[in-house]
Amino acid sequence: MERRDFLRTGLVTAGGVAAGAAGVAKVSSSAEAKAAAAGPGAATLALTADGELVVAPARNGATAVPTSAEARRGVPGRRWVMVIDLASCDGCGECTQVCAKSHFVPGDREYIRLFKMRESADTAPYWFPRPCFHCDNPPCTRVCPVGATFKREDGIVLIDNERCIGCRFCMAACPYSARSFNWSRPDNPTAAVTRGYSPEWGYPRRVGTAEKCDFCADMARDKQLPHCVAKCSMGAMWFGDENEDAVTNAKGDTVRLTTLLRDRAGFRYMEELGTKPRVYYLPAANRRSAAPGEPGANTGNLQRRGDQR
Ligand code: SF4
Repeated sequence: MERRDFLRTGLVTAGGVAAGAAGVAKVSSSAEAKAAAAGPGAATLALTADGELVVAPARNGATAVPTSAEARRGVPGRRWVMVIDLASCDGCGECTQVCAKSHFVPGDREYIRLFKMRESADTAPYWFPRPCFHCDNPPCTRVCPVGATFKREDGIVLIDNERCIGCRFCMAACPYSARSFNWSRPDNPTAAVTRGYSPEWGYPRRVGTAEKCDFCADMARDKQLPHCVAKCSMGAMWFGDENEDAVTNAKGDTVRLTTLLRDRAGFRYMEELGTKPRVYYLPAANRRSAAPGEPGANTGNLQRRGDQR
């Protein structure tokens, strides 16, 4: 996948796929039936910028449902990485919402949690989005007794719910509380069932299994930005390939990863634990958006849900 392709396909999502356009249709019972009739691998689900779920045909040989071996290996030659600019995040919560919608996440959990942070009483607060960090030295995978959660060549940590036995060792091992558990039988929507299960998207859900942010592994395989990154109107989230030394945001900006991290003093959360997260943060210095509580701050979403911290 070339950077140009990645950017173009990412922008398709960021800029908005016109629902109903040729080859793409809003999810409806007829569209789902058509996708189901076509069989696994013939169609995929996508989310437009308008928040509509659509059924789209698999493109150019793209695999809508990867084999188990493909899902466990990842995309050859890639090392996916995410950067979150705390100076630009305005706490709107769009990343959390679009993630929940695209993964059919139940209302009692969030793959990306937004925390209100404050270093001291004398400093302004800021927002801290926390996905799974897809650690390069993940304690979660080491404790799994059945190999249900695993680290791929492309850096993504996934869970295979067809193997998961529900022991929750992984949840205890994760120092970032990035995992959730299906305590009761999930109410899977038709669209989730229609697509069929893959560890790359984690649905339809199963009772007694763990789940978490998956870095939108299927989107990366299909040369698109993760939903959260594509939806971030502030351009505060970046995603790309460490091997290419390039990351892209929703505004269509593509920059060198190493330069961004060097010039903006990038860091990894609780790096001292040795987990080696694949998510980097840029400090909340010289903020370009209002801090929580300041005039102009985008806090409506979080005020309804209550501040996380
Ligand atoms: Fe595992 Fe937690 Fe690291 Fe994600 S953040 S890879 S769940 S240890």
